[in-house]
Amino acid sequence: MFEKILIANRGEIALRIQRACRELGIKTVVVHSEADADAKYVKLADESVCIGPAPSSQSYLSIPAIISAAEVTDAQAIHPGYGFLSENADFSERVEKCGFVFIGPRAETIRLMGDKVSAKIAMKKAGVPCVPGVEGALPDNPAEIIKIARSIGYPVIIKASGGGGGRGMRVVHTEAALLNAVTMTKSEAQAAFNNPMVYMEKYLENPRHIEIQVLADQHGNAVYLGERDCSMQRRNQKVLEEAPAPLINVRLRNKIGERCAEACRKIGYRGAGTFEFLYENGEFFFIEMNTRVQVEHPVTEMITGIDIVRQQILIAAGEKLPFRQRDIQFKGHAIECRINAEHPYKFTPSPGRITTWHAPGGPGIRVDSHAYNNYYVPPHYDSMIGKIIAYGDNREQAIARMRTALSEMAVEGIETNLALHRDLLQDSAFLNGGASIHYLEERLAERNKGK
Ligand code: ADP
Repeated sequence: MFEKILIANRGEIALRIQRACRELGIKTVVVHSEADADAKYVKLADESVCIGPAPSSQSYLSIPAIISAAEVTDAQAIHPGYGFLSENADFSERVEKCGFVFIGPRAETIRLMGDKVSAKIAMKKAGVPCVPGVEGALPDNPAEIIKIARSIGYPVIIKASGGGGGRGMRVVHTEAALLNAVTMTKSEAQAAFNNPMVYMEKYLENPRHIEIQVLADQHGNAVYLGERDCSMQRRNQKVLEEAPAPLINVRLRNKIGERCAEACRKIGYRGAGTFEFLYENGEFFFIEMNTRVQVEHPVTEMITGIDIVRQQILIAAGEKLPFRQRDIQFKGHAIECRINAEHPYKFTPSPGRITTWHAPGGPGIRVDSHAYNNYYVPPHYDSMIGKIIAYGDNREQAIARMRTALSEMAVEGIETNLALHRDLLQDSAFLNGGASIHYLEERLAERNKGK
């Protein structure tokens, strides 16, 4: 087992990883920018190293700074968390070349899944159902592009192979708009991702976002830990997640989960990962894979009792998965609300000093956050400052507990989206379960019209 792990991230996930290390008796090194120097989670670590000024391009994204920090502190492994360098194949390659263990998949796997065209081809081959479309990148020939769109049927979506973060996509409803859309997406993709390759698939009009969590060790074992429903989104950013997904046939869920686990075995996947699907009319369609731990991993932990971050570390250390698929039981229901430092309805960021931080508690409530009274939320990073997770024997109890938690939670000094969550927890479409990925945006648009 590792003696010391370097955590190449910040905020709540840096604290979450630290807690897993503590539990395993592993020492921690936290790297931080100048803006995060005073944060409590930095002080809690066994060691900390300042790796640069506030802008992430000069700190959390600086591969040389992070590797030197690992060298001077004698860390053996590096946990990348989510965001930042977590899905950067060059980073994982550098880490391993310098003699450290990267807590995540091999660089070639990150590369394979980071390119959406190659990911889709690999998944199709592994028997994972994909959104209908053509295999591979779009050709240059206009007549062929038109033919492909006709065969898929409108509406179609043009997507950048190197795209991410909800960027590099265009929906096309008519043939008249097709070629122009392809040209525009290509040039945008070149500018944003340095890769002009685009592909085309069917545009699903009212899907849900359902994702499957997997764990795979280095000995060919892989399991799925069930699904999460992350359909409550704004601008492709998840706002609230839950597990299990309401109204999904359990046999279908298990079938798709098994396909994902099998795909992991086929591509030699290592570590924790998530297969993202769109779900419409009772069918799952793969869109992409995330080769890292996700923000919403706690809801899965609550219903399986499995500590995903702990497993990531054990897998990286070469251990075998301590359970088989039949040992994994799904019990109860969990919901997560992401707490953001932003206006609840205008969504303008609200960094600054937190003068009051009162976190909720009680049965089934878990708060993952690095914030506290007098914590200063720096303006340089993502606005998420924590997560409330509510667990119950069933969905009703999880909802009731989340409502209580949201009513107890008090944050002053900055604005947060707590009011939005309180509203959502009373919303009939949410309460019924099964809302589509467009629901929250439509509801927010209605609200603005009413003003
Ligand atoms: P990114 O890596 O940028 O997040 P994804 O492939 O995960 O890109 O897609 C992001 C979002 O775009 C999806 O969650 C969904 O809302 C929408 N989307 C992507 N592909 C389709 C599709 N074929 N039909 C409908 N919506 C889609």
